[in-house]
Amino acid sequence: MEECCRFGLAERRVQARLSTRAKMIEESPTLAVTAKAAALKKQGIDVIGFGAGEPDFDTPGNIKESGIEAIRKGFTKYTAAAGMPELRQVIAEKLERDHGLVYSPNDILVSCGAKHCLHNIFQAICDPGDEVVILSPYWVSYSEAVRLAGGVPVLVETSMESEFKARPDQIADAITPKTKAVIINSPCNPTGTVYTRDELKSIGEVLLNTEVYVISDEIYERVVYDGIETVSIAAVVPGLKDRTFVVNGVSKTYAMTGWRIGYVAGPSEEIKAMASIQSHTVSAPAHFAQIAAIDALNGDQSSVDAMVKEFSRRRDYMVQRLNAIDGIECTTPKGAFYVFPKVSRLYGRSLGGVKVTNSLELCSQLLETARVAVVPGSGFGADEHVRLSYAMSIEAIERGLDRIEKALSEME
Ligand SMILES: *Cc1c(COP(=O)(O)O)cnc(C)c1O
Repeated sequence: MEECCRFGLAERRVQARLSTRAKMIEESPTLAVTAKAAALKKQGIDVIGFGAGEPDFDTPGNIKESGIEAIRKGFTKYTAAAGMPELRQVIAEKLERDHGLVYSPNDILVSCGAKHCLHNIFQAICDPGDEVVILSPYWVSYSEAVRLAGGVPVLVETSMESEFKARPDQIADAITPKTKAVIINSPCNPTGTVYTRDELKSIGEVLLNTEVYVISDEIYERVVYDGIETVSIAAVVPGLKDRTFVVNGVSKTYAMTGWRIGYVAGPSEEIKAMASIQSHTVSAPAHFAQIAAIDALNGDQSSVDAMVKEFSRRRDYMVQRLNAIDGIECTTPKGAFYVFPKVSRLYGRSLGGVKVTNSLELCSQLLETARVAVVPGSGFGADEHVRLSYAMSIEAIERGLDRIEKALSEME
């Protein structure tokens, strides 16, 4: 008991020393579930994790070789703060090739992942109290990154019934004189929603009547199914280009999450300010990782196609299996590697002797009783849902779904 009290006191003291900013930030629920599952695994318990937020595939061999060769050649120093000019040139060519978007390499910033690009943006554009419109369900880091910069996240609610798509009038209604930016994430994590060209055009036309920045998170651009195209709002509504930040990176497309290379193209003055902020925080992304990113963007793309083909097969399997379970409703995502089924019909029933009333309780009981890790939708702003990643082998998916099916069939 003494031990416990001392710990409590020490913890309270640490809490008191933390900044208001630090205390405001919540742990990512994705990482929390992954960590809890990892802890159980470490105890020798067989847990099947549907929490993964990264491709299960290895970084393609040609890209790894490029990184290793770069280290051997001594590309292991600081680079220009905004990233190597050669990489920024390659990114400019990529944006023109894929979207017809023309940028000077000077208007491109390379950061330590797309997540870091987003932080640089909010640090550069948000004053305390500035609002940033986020379409919900949303990727958890958006709201925390906005709040770290002193901004206020403003959520626009969407639902499964409308494919998790926000209507232009909803976005228009959310914009106030305090709004600094609107974030569009297509393909979307967690819902897999992909906006069509026409939908982006309608949204863009509403935004043209305002002065807000547009932040287009296109990190899942290449992870799309059924042959659909992904378009950038900056290309669809050219009038918005000079206030749009096109955010992307190599993490998801090339299974390079650990290399930490993301990029953003945008208006000159803002990109310059972001580069300056970056120079005082991380100095620059890792030299050899930037070289590997050049080879990822310019090299053989067949590994991307193979990865997406496999994801597509898993997606179809998952959607079909989940919809066969009583109480679960799952739409077919068009992109990214998650399904986001509605599970709220299960609320009110008991699992493992505990009554489940929300997504966190459901996920917690699924981990307890079925040894499967699923991410609660509450962290994404959608408590009626849960998120399951299919960035894992189809055998593991099958075993995991068997467990979920069995556990849920025993709910009473
Ligand atoms: C994974 C992810 C990112 C960030 O990826 P980085 O590894 O930081 O490049 C950004 N946005 C969304 C929606 C993501 O899922």
